[in-house]
Amino acid sequence: MTRTVVLDGTLDAFRAHARALIGEGVPPEGIRWRDPLRSPRAEGAEPGLFGATDAPSPLPDRTAAVRSPALELPRAYVDALPTISCYRDESVWRALYVVAWRIARGDRGLMADPLDADVAVLQRMRKAIGRDAHKMHAFVRFRRIEDPGARGGERFIAWYRPSHLIVEREASFFRGRFPSMDWSILTPDRCAHWDGREVRFTEGAPRDAAPDHDELEELWCTYYASIFNPARVKISAMVAEMPRKFWDTLPETKQIPELLADVPRRLEEMARNSRAVADSAAPFVPFGAPLDELRETLPGCEGCELHRNGTRAVAGEGPQDASTVLLGEQPGDTEERAGRPFIGPAGEVLDAALEVAGIRREALYVTNAVKHFRHEPAPRGKRRLHKRPTIEHVTRCQPWLDAELAAVAPRALVCLGATAARAVFGPTFRMPDPGAAPEARTSRYADATLVTFHPAAILRAEDPARAAAMRAHLEQTLRATLADPAATTARPSPG
Ligand code: SF4
Repeated sequence: MTRTVVLDGTLDAFRAHARALIGEGVPPEGIRWRDPLRSPRAEGAEPGLFGATDAPSPLPDRTAAVRSPALELPRAYVDALPTISCYRDESVWRALYVVAWRIARGDRGLMADPLDADVAVLQRMRKAIGRDAHKMHAFVRFRRIEDPGARGGERFIAWYRPSHLIVEREASFFRGRFPSMDWSILTPDRCAHWDGREVRFTEGAPRDAAPDHDELEELWCTYYASIFNPARVKISAMVAEMPRKFWDTLPETKQIPELLADVPRRLEEMARNSRAVADSAAPFVPFGAPLDELRETLPGCEGCELHRNGTRAVAGEGPQDASTVLLGEQPGDTEERAGRPFIGPAGEVLDAALEVAGIRREALYVTNAVKHFRHEPAPRGKRRLHKRPTIEHVTRCQPWLDAELAAVAPRALVCLGATAARAVFGPTFRMPDPGAAPEARTSRYADATLVTFHPAAILRAEDPARAAAMRAHLEQTLRATLADPAATTARPSPG
């Protein structure tokens, strides 16, 4: 004969009955567990909820059962009980009893076997509770009301409909998150109230027991609209993450239709903006323009993300009819502050080498492969540390170099360092040995294109002998450009 046990919905009642039944040796198939709170008709059925047939079964006398050593259940089971008992279906009691019964019959390691069908049922229930708790943490929305009895004369009230009976379990989460405000979370099952000292629980409440609007709502909706990303709209994922049943209590969901309708326009706008930033400097460069115009246009470039790093673009410097162009990597800290190329410590090394080579700097056009200063973040007022631009920065910035060199049309081009050389000869270019003789090649920019060391690399070289060799290579390379002495020879000093 099957026994019917009617529970009052509490874990304590289940424990008491389960102990007694196991103690009596009643197998799972001999019991029908009833729980009106968890039955499908429980919701909205307050009148007669515990009618004649739903009256909880009297609690058994515990003393006899407690004496049985078989009822000492392992910690894995005992610890899981409070969570799993939140499951909103009366089948939970049978599932719990089956596992307790098998453990009591000697299968002490049962809970450690995830492949066991009975344990898997409990795991599924536990996971469902975890997901429900996660949603409650995310979707409870408080509205402020005036309450003279509350701290500060105000109370925050939320109405929420959890899938499972988790209000008591999750109250501690909200107490920890909002300790300094008095709040109430109302649900159809139970209500939790926090006053700064303790959380009290009362019977469930209907939806209209909570306010449905307050002045904080507008602020929240504005915030939600600002973080709404039209490029990541996936309706199915949105509904999975924010099920429709919560929508009526979430103020931000009222604007979802409007935000979705605006997605095509915002995507087009994002695409327009990203094109300007992502592609290259090309849309910003007035090709065919003289150097003056290039210099004026350069500050508006948004060809890569460096325009957002708080530095200014540094244009090339020198006469448009220069027969030789010196090409560096990017402006440094001093250059960026002054808005001129090669005037910092590296500029001093270059000037000294030019003097040794007998070349007037004023006769040269000096520029960089990347016009903005890429650097490591530095505290305000401190010198910013150079960070080498990537080949992508070089590529994106190249339209400026193309335009400059088209305007200057130099006979000789000197690449100072690997970044400049790669801008001209491609990303696989390898620097020469410092002891090698200068070598002129043809490039798309100049008939005689030479590669030597960047003055900053000479400053950084730790080995004095190598630094000296690099410096000598720089001087020899500069001297090798002197095919047209009238263009680059240093003026004789007066007197
Ligand atoms: Fe434009 Fe070059 Fe500056 Fe990038 S580094 S923003 S491409 S000028």
